[in-house]
Amino acid sequence: MSRIIFWLALVFLVIFAVRSKIREAQKRHQQQFREPQQPAGGARAGAKVAAEAETMLQCAHCGIFYPASESVQARGRDYCSAAHATLPAA
Ligand SMILES: [Zn+2]
Repeated sequence: MSRIIFWLALVFLVIFAVRSKIREAQKRHQQQFREPQQPAGGARAGAKVAAEAETMLQCAHCGIFYPASESVQARGRDYCSAAHATLPAA
């Protein structure tokens, strides 16, 4: 009788161990599933950035390219900053 109890306990332990291993594997599988979704979200964010992309202008003083919304116009030319707009033309 004690042998039967021993084998039953062993079987339950094995089942418990296998179940916990399966849960770990499922968690890893879900994480692997989430990881490819992050680049997809990144692609969506990239598309959003591309949609929000605006024209770039070149500063008449230093030559740097900057978004047109940050443009400072002076003397009919575009500058990257108010500091460069106030500087005498080179
Ligand atoms: Zn500049």
